[in-house]
Amino acid sequence: DAAVPYLEINNVEVIYDHVILVLKGVSLKVPRGGIVALLGANGAGKSTTLKSISNLLRAERGEVTKGSIHFKGDRVDRMTPSDLVKRGVIQVMEGRHCFAHLSVEENLLAGAYTRGHARAEIRAGLEKVYHYFPRLKQRRGSQAGYTSGGEQQMCAIGRALMARPEMILLDEPSMGLAPQIVEEIFEIVKDLNRSEGVGFLLAEQNTLVALRYADFGYILENGRVVMEGAAAELAANEDVKEFYLGLS
Ligand code: ATP
Repeated sequence: DAAVPYLEINNVEVIYDHVILVLKGVSLKVPRGGIVALLGANGAGKSTTLKSISNLLRAERGEVTKGSIHFKGDRVDRMTPSDLVKRGVIQVMEGRHCFAHLSVEENLLAGAYTRGHARAEIRAGLEKVYHYFPRLKQRRGSQAGYTSGGEQQMCAIGRALMARPEMILLDEPSMGLAPQIVEEIFEIVKDLNRSEGVGFLLAEQNTLVALRYADFGYILENGRVVMEGAAAELAANEDVKEFYLGLS
């Protein structure tokens, strides 16, 4: 049903260590095949929101204490991260997280095992990743730890792609990268969205770039959504310009 959003977060509250209230009732939606930007300053709660969806909070002593999360109409906020992966929801964590001692290709192969694919499918998956990321093909035999920051970010997204995601939760892809590489990565995100129908929820401090590639955006401040709208409207909004477009 095309009318059911891919992802729907309703009034989610997150508490760390039983006492630290970080998300104070966040609601947002990602439509089927949409690119949605989650914006806000350092510490606003963007990463926490992504982790509440992928359920990676538990490892950090965090929990969703209120609200609900649905993916394609099914409630998912009591599921494990691997259940989410099986349903096609994959998080690419902030800071890239490639296995430094493995080659680029070994990193990509590691992404396939999360969904237990057959050999032919894995082969096809690799070819697809190399189609979207020709740089990774060139660097396939290199140790990931010796590739550039941009290549490591591509490797992390490529690894997620190996699990044939329907939706990628992408945390701060621009972090620490030169503007030209950031554009290259966002172009690939857009292409994956258009050609493969992968939905994206994109946490970014780089408001300007994120709003150029996203369809819709939410601005988080201190654990609450303070503004939301079509990307072009947010980018033209005076308050957004004043408070956020200088941040990156
Ligand atoms: P960043 O760009 O730094 O990732 P963010 O918007 O993603 O910022 P979060 O990482 O979600 O923000 O952090 C939101 C708030 O929650 C911050 O005040 C942070 O200190 C706090 N926080 C994050 N993780 C934990 C944790 N494991 N335990 C306690 N507090 C945490």
